[in-house]
Amino acid sequence: MLSVSEALARVLGNFQSLDSEFIPSESAVGRVLAEPVRATLDLPPFPNSSMDGYAVRAADLHTASADTPSVLTVIGDVPAGVMPAVRVERGTAVRIMTGAHVPAGADAVVPIEATGASRSVIDGPLPVSIRIHEPVTAGAYVRPAGEDVRAGDLVMGRGKIVRAYDVGVLASFGLTHVKVVRRPRVAVLSTGDELVDISQTPGPGQIRDSNSYSLTALVHKYGGEPSRLGVARDRVDAVHEKLRAAADARVDLIVSSAGVSVGAYDVVKLAVEQQGTLDFWKVRMRPGKPIAFGQYRGIPFFGLPGNPVSAIVTFEIFVRPTILRLGGRPQLDKPTVSVTLSDTLHSDGRETYLRAVVIKQGDRYIAHSAGGQGSNILSALVNANALVIIPDGLTEVPAGSELRAWLLDWPEEVFLQ
Ligand code: AMP
Ligand code: MG
Repeated sequence: MLSVSEALARVLGNFQSLDSEFIPSESAVGRVLAEPVRATLDLPPFPNSSMDGYAVRAADLHTASADTPSVLTVIGDVPAGVMPAVRVERGTAVRIMTGAHVPAGADAVVPIEATGASRSVIDGPLPVSIRIHEPVTAGAYVRPAGEDVRAGDLVMGRGKIVRAYDVGVLASFGLTHVKVVRRPRVAVLSTGDELVDISQTPGPGQIRDSNSYSLTALVHKYGGEPSRLGVARDRVDAVHEKLRAAADARVDLIVSSAGVSVGAYDVVKLAVEQQGTLDFWKVRMRPGKPIAFGQYRGIPFFGLPGNPVSAIVTFEIFVRPTILRLGGRPQLDKPTVSVTLSDTLHSDGRETYLRAVVIKQGDRYIAHSAGGQGSNILSALVNANALVIIPDGLTEVPAGSELRAWLLDWPEEVFLQ
């Protein structure tokens, strides 16, 4: 039987980044750039003032002091958004607003506060002259053209995940649209005669189909576009009908749950073998030994176990990195930390994923069990903030040992840059 890492390597060997699409920059947050973004112009595009004040020549103020201020003749005014019509010549100054183009001849700005004038002067009529009581260094309060970025510079690389912080830069370049990797379209199917939709009241022996809801939520979480196929009854033709609909819709991936073990009603495996191939259907792991991977009519297919915890854990291990790869994300590894066990843990030797609560104490993470570890016990997963991993081959790990764990509530985007 394949180990988790062998199975994952086999899965990922089948996938590469999807094609791209143009979308409005404002809705690109969380999406992956399909091509690099280069600066279309200098930012700032022209030298501008970072203060309200007077554009001057630093050379004119060399001797300025509290006792002998330099007096400059004010020859004009540059509001923001206007190209200055005047040139600052020796002994002159131009009143200037924050963000306005620094006029030719000027090499510094003296903030209004440093001219001895009251703040209101900046809104009032242009004074004939100003008095400045101290020297200024060339370049002061001038933001040079290209200080931020230069035209042609690489600003964001291919594969970068666009964040809210990045949208303004795209806007500054006039990029109304950006090219991003298309979202993987993932069809989610549940199978089982006992299942009813969550809007219905289960009859005797029936339960609600929770898996297709947790799995579509996970597809969403990792950047995919889920579509729900609903529930197929435990008959091969019913499974074919649903899978064929997904294949006809040319989805990028099909994910089903249940019906892949060896029970008499485990018809999903059979259906996939009839209209496709199965690469493997068992992995040495717990929860979730029956986990199938293959293709149905050419569409990659995952058959996850039916037990709700197994379905979620096997999704995290196999489907999550697949969706990330299809979505063009370079980093596929789930972020892990080293945790110290508060209790002795047992396993049957298969790689085991335990629901745990991890608490930070000092600089250590301490892991406690989050409750029942049965693969049907969803409440322990709701209470858990981590999955602690007992590696393949170990049957007992004593309290106080260190193991790797996935922290479920970490914002993975931080690690996916
Ligand atoms: P199976 O793989 O069909 O043997 O299912 C294993 C267990 O998972 C059974 O207890 C099923 O009732 C349960 N199960 C299967 N599918 C779902 C689902 N969509 N939602 C909730 N539980 C399910
Ligand atoms: Mg079943």
